[in-house]
Amino acid sequence: MIYDVETETMPREELETLQLKRLQNLVERVYANVPFYRKRLDEKGVKPADIRSLADIQYLPFTEKQDLRNNYPFGLFAVPRENVVRIHSSSGTTGKATVVGYTKRDVKNWATLMARSFMAAGASSADIVHNAYGYGLFTGGLGVHYGAEELGATIVPVSGGGTRRQVQLLRDFGPTVICSTPSYMQYLIEASNDAGMDIRELPLRVGIFGAEPWTEEMRRDLEARLGITAIDIYGLSEIMGPGVACECRAAQNGLHLAEDHFLPEIIDPKTGETLPPGSVGELVITTLTKEALPLLRYRTRDLTKLDYVPCKCGRTLVRMHRIMGRSDDMLIIRGVNVFPSQIESIILETEGTAPHYQIIVGRHGSLDTLEIQVEVDEKFLSDEIRGLQALERKIQKSIKEFLGVTAKVKLVEPKTIQRSEGKAKRIIDQR
Ligand SMILES: [Zn+2]
Repeated sequence: MIYDVETETMPREELETLQLKRLQNLVERVYANVPFYRKRLDEKGVKPADIRSLADIQYLPFTEKQDLRNNYPFGLFAVPRENVVRIHSSSGTTGKATVVGYTKRDVKNWATLMARSFMAAGASSADIVHNAYGYGLFTGGLGVHYGAEELGATIVPVSGGGTRRQVQLLRDFGPTVICSTPSYMQYLIEASNDAGMDIRELPLRVGIFGAEPWTEEMRRDLEARLGITAIDIYGLSEIMGPGVACECRAAQNGLHLAEDHFLPEIIDPKTGETLPPGSVGELVITTLTKEALPLLRYRTRDLTKLDYVPCKCGRTLVRMHRIMGRSDDMLIIRGVNVFPSQIESIILETEGTAPHYQIIVGRHGSLDTLEIQVEVDEKFLSDEIRGLQALERKIQKSIKEFLGVTAKVKLVEPKTIQRSEGKAKRIIDQR
């Protein structure tokens, strides 16, 4: 089922005409209303009237997260503050917080895009949605909430935390759709087992997971443990929140990006040059319709690639490959680039481990050190020491073979790695 058939299956030529019209309008709006952009455009010698084709986007300046921080809190808003009906903010763990705003229409568009995402995931108005994304300044909770209501589904606004109560609600309300981070879902599965409940017996059939990077191996693990279809959703608060892109249940092969609202590009993160279709690079997004906080060429730091081949689900919107890594998350270990997702893939592919791990990076003298702590699967606990040592060596060998770095692998007892109720903190960098 497709929520907005006309838009989601629009022929590309028609879509590009719509995008160009919206892009031209966007550049006019930011030039007239946002001093920051007027200055940037003047510096580049670009006037709104110079945008005559979609390719002309390359003449527009990039926007970085730092630009939002520099204009904290409302400096980049393109409408009077009275027209802003909602504020969200990032946690600001790596620096000053960033603030985003929405007009009434922005909130409405967001709800519509989330409703589209729900339907792409295979949900309908008949579903009960258990929403375990945090409510509050974080966009996850309210983004999903408004989308489920727009769809007409029954939303259970549980938010994050209170895990034992969540298990109770899963049992009592019988939700058919669940939304959370993949790491919190793993925690909920564990907590259900502890409560003596078989989560596979519940009516759950779809999980919509996002807000942190996760792998194909994690998807398979969640699908097997829950007996559901696990769908990848993408979003970021600077651009909107969840619902910027979402996988379809029919293909589960790439996330359809809402191109009528967001214009994506893939660039070389080092040079800033636009890369040809199909290349892996940094995702850059221009918001075509956002009123309160429109952004030109926002650098997401997420690495992916775009596939314009029509999908078997019937949607013509481009498919974005699941995020392959974040340039911010990339670890450099003795000169070798390592993404945490690569480590996750190896751990989850190795039998005998549980999907709970932590990556500890340190320095010994002038050398970087990498230690990976992985929980042993309860079923393997009874194994003798020799078996466990062999398992450690096996993971170590795979990491050396596939990633080219030497890591110390330490198996730890079940439930010893701290569980997260939102986004997992998997890396401890002591350097
Ligand atoms: Zn599709």
